[in-house]
Amino acid sequence: MSVETFDVVVAGGGPGGSTVAALVAMQGHRVLLLEKEVFPRYQIGESLLPSTVHGVCRLLGVTDELAAAKFPVKRGGTFRWGARPEPWTFSFAVSPRMTGPTSFAYQVERARFDEILLNNAKSKGVTVREGCSVTAVVEEGDRVTGLRYTDSDGGEHEVGARFVIDASGNKSRLHASVGGTREYSEFFRSLALFGYFENGKRLPEPYSGNILSVAFDSGWFWYIPLSDTLTSVGVVVRREMAEKIQGDREKAYNALIAECPLIAEYLSDARRVTTGNYGELRVRKDYSYHQTKFWRPGMILVGDAACFVDPVFSSGVHLATYSALLAARSINSVLAGDLDEKTAFDEFEGRYRREYGVFYEFLVSFYQMNVNEESYFWHAKKVTNNEHTEFESFVDLVGGVASGETALAASRLAERSAEFAGAVDQMAGGDDGDMVPLFKSHVVKQVMQEGGQVQMKAVLGEDAAPEEPVFPGGLVSSPDGMKWLPYRG
Ligand code: FAD
Repeated sequence: MSVETFDVVVAGGGPGGSTVAALVAMQGHRVLLLEKEVFPRYQIGESLLPSTVHGVCRLLGVTDELAAAKFPVKRGGTFRWGARPEPWTFSFAVSPRMTGPTSFAYQVERARFDEILLNNAKSKGVTVREGCSVTAVVEEGDRVTGLRYTDSDGGEHEVGARFVIDASGNKSRLHASVGGTREYSEFFRSLALFGYFENGKRLPEPYSGNILSVAFDSGWFWYIPLSDTLTSVGVVVRREMAEKIQGDREKAYNALIAECPLIAEYLSDARRVTTGNYGELRVRKDYSYHQTKFWRPGMILVGDAACFVDPVFSSGVHLATYSALLAARSINSVLAGDLDEKTAFDEFEGRYRREYGVFYEFLVSFYQMNVNEESYFWHAKKVTNNEHTEFESFVDLVGGVASGETALAASRLAERSAEFAGAVDQMAGGDDGDMVPLFKSHVVKQVMQEGGQVQMKAVLGEDAAPEEPVFPGGLVSSPDGMKWLPYRG
């Protein structure tokens, strides 16, 4: 059997796979992407973050296409959570009346969003083969040197590459080949049951595109508007309820909705979709985990193949696309002969693990607050001392880093970024006994500041403020964001 060869071969064409494939192909390398399904295909994970939309998607060059797709604009989130009985809202913008050009994300039908990213990969020169299921890695000594896959006609193939990327999601068949083990979280041992409704109610403007998250006795609901009439409605419950849910999904779903008055009221005039791709009631369980290794010579894991954490802050696509960007930088640097593999891939793994760790920490504290009356957002309001609601105060800061596409906005962006860094410092360094532990975390502080860097780079390119390495003696990203450079500070 003759073996085709590429610089890079990617398993999986979700957001992680199509992002890394495109960013490597954009540097002139030969990339093959193998996807099991034929797109468009269904996927859960519909609520995006501004970092994906305005950071990674801008680097990919799909900003206009996303805008043309007319996905509902998500200006923030609305929560009925914790001790407070009434819902509260956060906005990505500094204020709802002052929405900056990048202070929003989208709620996306993943079949459409993922297809845009996959088609973009093709247009950037990636060879994409759909209907091709990867079955195993090929190894030589301690190195991964290729993949085996089966095409839609049952034909078996082998392909060789300098680097293999596993981006085949939570059901990956390859992740174990990287070494280490997949560790499941004891804290987030939960299960989700989800379906779709027509004609559900909408939050009042300007928040009609927000995600609505509602905690209740058995768990919490997400309520995500996907069009004027279509809504994604899912419930996350403790794993002990698995049996009840697996038995009769419809009955369990209806009973859980009835148990949660706010969701029941939003669905009072709605009809559940029962046909087509949205007609099925689906279940996902045990979905918080991480692989103890993210790379080995010749192989990298990105996205859900590497790790995943509870979806309450809609971090999945962000982690997938951000890890894809980190992986692309590492691979581009090695293929260009700028760095050795260990230096480049250690930087990838260190940054990715840290980002995952932050969301994990963030979420644990958020769930603890469900018990503790003290509100995380109340603290954010206290340190920023502005006139907005508590939750807005915090995310306003994050949105501030994301703001500004034009030259004018860009200078405002730098200003706002400094403001943000100052506020994060204040939160982290305060000796207030009431301070949320999250903000004392050095890791959280660093990641929040670095998230700002990614978006600044996407907006400002070479004009972005110089970056500091994240790890002592570590690397920084190149001015165009596509590679790593040694730090020469
Ligand atoms: P995927 O999107 O899973 O893509 C992997 C691709 O690989 C698929 O297209 C698959 O067909 C393909 N593939 C699989 N096996 C093979 C194979 N053997 N060969 C070739 N191809 C293969 N994230 C958010 O950002 N926002 C949310 O609101 C959100 N809500 C969620 C709710 C729930 C209940 C769950 C479980 C997750 C949620 N997520 C959310 C997470 C989100 O679904 C994932 O994090 C995201 O899809 C990961 O992207 P990925 O590219 O790593 O993997």
